[in-house]
Amino acid sequence: MDAWPTCDVPQLPGSGRPLRLFDTAQQALMETGSGPARMYVCGITPYDATHLGHAATYLAFDLVQRVWRDAGRTVHYVQNVTDVDDPLLERAAHTGENWMSLAEREIQLFRDDMTALRVLPPDDYIGAVEAVPEITEAIGRLLDDGAAYHVHDDIYFSVASAPGFGRESNYDRDTMLRLFAERGGDPGQTGKKDPLDPLLWRAHRHGEPFWDTPLGRGRPGWHIECSVIALNRLGMGFDVQGGGSDLIFPHHEHSAAHAEVLTGQAPFARAYVHTGMIGLDGEKMSKSRGNLVLVSKLRAARIDPMAVRLALLDGHYRADREWTGGRLPAAEARLDRWRAAVALDSAPDARPMLETVRERLADDLDTHGAIAAVDEWAEAALASDGLDPEAPTLARSTVDALLGVAL
Ligand code: ZN
Repeated sequence: MDAWPTCDVPQLPGSGRPLRLFDTAQQALMETGSGPARMYVCGITPYDATHLGHAATYLAFDLVQRVWRDAGRTVHYVQNVTDVDDPLLERAAHTGENWMSLAEREIQLFRDDMTALRVLPPDDYIGAVEAVPEITEAIGRLLDDGAAYHVHDDIYFSVASAPGFGRESNYDRDTMLRLFAERGGDPGQTGKKDPLDPLLWRAHRHGEPFWDTPLGRGRPGWHIECSVIALNRLGMGFDVQGGGSDLIFPHHEHSAAHAEVLTGQAPFARAYVHTGMIGLDGEKMSKSRGNLVLVSKLRAARIDPMAVRLALLDGHYRADREWTGGRLPAAEARLDRWRAAVALDSAPDARPMLETVRERLADDLDTHGAIAAVDEWAEAALASDGLDPEAPTLARSTVDALLGVAL
C-alpha cells in the first residue's frame, strides 16, 4: 500500500559518523555497520492510532535513518500494517463499524500524523492483507519441514524446531509464559506441543474475515506476518529490527524464530532495538487504560507538530518517559528560540554544533545531548552581534536533516 509523502533532507557538509545502537539480544551497544542499510520497524494495528507512544517509536527510527543517510549509507526501510488481527476486529465489532473501513480510516490518520511529524516514509509499506499469499506460502513450508503443526484447523509453530529461540529477549521460561499470556498469546490452548508455541494461521470462524488459500480458509497470525514481510524484502541479517519494548517478547522473538527456521540461517536481524513507553500521569499510555494522547488531537488543537516532535525527542528513546503538561510549552519555547536564531543575518560558526549533534546522535541516539548543542548555539547566536553569514543556514539544515525539525 502507499506510505506517505517524503520530505527533503538537506545535505550537510562533511560526513556523519557510524551509528551505535543498543541491541536487546546482546544487551550491549553495537556498531550498526556500513554500506547499504536495511531496517524493519513493526507498524501499527490500525485502531486508536497515532498515540504519543507510537509517535515516539517512529521518531526514534526516523533518526536512525537520518543518521545513516548523513553517514553516506543508502537505507532500505520496510514497515508493515497489521490490517487484520484480533484487536482491530474486536474494536470494529464493539463499535459496529466495518473492520475494513476502520482500518482504512486509521491508516490514513497515521499517514497524516507521520507526514505532519516529518517522519521519513518506509520504502515498502506492506499490509498483512496484501501479504496473505506470501505468508501462506511460508506457513506451508514450515508445515512441510515439520516446524509447524495443526491443532484442529489452526496451525501453530513449534518453538522446539528453533534452536535460537530465546536469544532475542534473553527471558527465562517463566517470564516468557507470563508475557505470552499478557500480550495476545494462548499458553493455555489445549493440543499444543509447547504452551509457548504461537499461532501461525487461524482457521475461519463464523463472522470473521478469511481468505481462501492452499492452507484452507482463515487468516495469518501476527508474528509470521512481520517475519515474512521483512524476510521477503530485506533478506536475513538485516541491520535493525525495531519496535516498542512491549514487542521484545513474544513478537520479535517469534518473528526471528520463524525466519531462522524458514531459512536455516541466523540471525534474522543484527540488532533488535526497542523504544521505551510513554506514560501519562504515572501510568503507561495504552489503549486498555484509555489514557491515550493522540497526535491527531494535538494537530486539531493547532499545536505545531514540530513542537510535538521536539518534545518527544527531548528524552532518551530507550527510557520510559512521562508526558507531562510542561513538555509541550518547553518545546514550543525552544522552537521559538531556535527559529529566532536561524532568522538572523549572521551568527557564530555553526560547524562545531553540527559536529556535536552528529557525535551525540551516533552514540545510541543521544537526542538530549544533540538538543543541548543546538540550544547552546542558539543562545550564543541570540546574544552575539553575529560573525558568520553562513551559520544560520547551516544551523537550520543541521536541525532539519538530523533532528527532522523544520525551523
Ligand atoms: Zn512486527
